Amino acid sequence: MVFCSDCFRNLEIKAIIEERGIEGDCSICGSKQAKIYDTDIDLTLIGIFDNLLSAYTAEDDLPSDYPKEELRTIVDAVRNEWDIFADISDVDVSNILKTLSPTILEDYPVIFEKKVGIPEKYDKEYLQSHSILRTEKWDDFVESIKHKNRFHTDLIDKDLLKKYCLDISKKIPITKQRFYRGRVAKNADGFPPSEMGAPPQEYASNGRANSAGISRLYLTDNKETTFHEIRAAEYDYVSVGTFKQLKEITVVDLKQIHKISPFGVDVDCTSLAINREHLLKINQEMSKPMRSGDSPLDYLPTQYICDFVMSITDEDGNTVFDGIEYQSAMHSRGSNFAIFNPENFKCTYSRTFEVTKLRYTKELLSKQK
Ligand SMILES: [Zn+2]
Repeated sequence: MVFCSDCFRNLEIKAIIEERGIEGDCSICGSKQAKIYDTDIDLTLIGIFDNLLSAYTAEDDLPSDYPKEELRTIVDAVRNEWDIFADISDVDVSNILKTLSPTILEDYPVIFEKKVGIPEKYDKEYLQSHSILRTEKWDDFVESIKHKNRFHTDLIDKDLLKKYCLDISKKIPITKQRFYRGRVAKNADGFPPSEMGAPPQEYASNGRANSAGISRLYLTDNKETTFHEIRAAEYDYVSVGTFKQLKEITVVDLKQIHKISPFGVDVDCTSLAINREHLLKINQEMSKPMRSGDSPLDYLPTQYICDFVMSITDEDGNTVFDGIEYQSAMHSRGSNFAIFNPENFKCTYSRTFEVTKLRYTKELLSKQK
């Protein structure tokens, strides 16, 4: 079977194929002069999916109370739960999996014929020691931290959460890249740079990444995103501060969760599959726009996670992370940053704009007579 590096999104597989360096056209994804891999002459990738596919059990072998709505084909599972393949057909994905996993195809062929699931997802004993949220779901954690125990919850497995935070850590060196923060201003003069940074502690109100009284700096990597994030209205004056970075920082990059590779050495794919869901939920919660009707209690779960990330230390007792990076829910091209130590950035100048036009896109939800 012949495929190419463009058939994949997973960086490890792409790198292996690109290293082989054979140029040709790919009949699967249609790429011309791509780096081609022929399974008849190169065995490097044979077995690469074995560990991942072994995390799945065919439906006949699953516990009888396994939720039916969670069952899916192995192709759907690999496609939806892991960002491995580019936009190639399900048949091609199936053929690639079978060709690269001859042992599984021989020993457990039913995995390619029947629907599959991960039994450990509902195995309380397994979850207790392998899930960030132990045996609970995110909503249970939310309920608990809001209404039961705020500061000493034992619902989170902190060692495991720390491990995953380290897996998705990212260094951001000082470069020419600039960061931005927007504020709605009262008039066309806007705010000077000295008023574009994080608020003084006594004025810091509750946010997704900070409790009231704790001042953190919220930045984006894209000027346009600031307008979306503050949800500027038509004719608003908006001051946008441009920030430069004063030191190299390390962040937990929640956007990388789906990129945690199942092909690394010693990766426990079952545990990773279970925790990816929780981590994606954290990213989603961080990205949720704040609304005026929100209760401060709604921000507690992400505040807890952010405070925990800030508390992570290395073996010498030094803090590891300077902030968290997460997807902007308001503007898909932008990344947001919650920076723990605002003094790592300096606002060099601010510009004030007027929002002259807004375009609304809408979707009909109901009609009444
Ligand atoms: Zn291809």
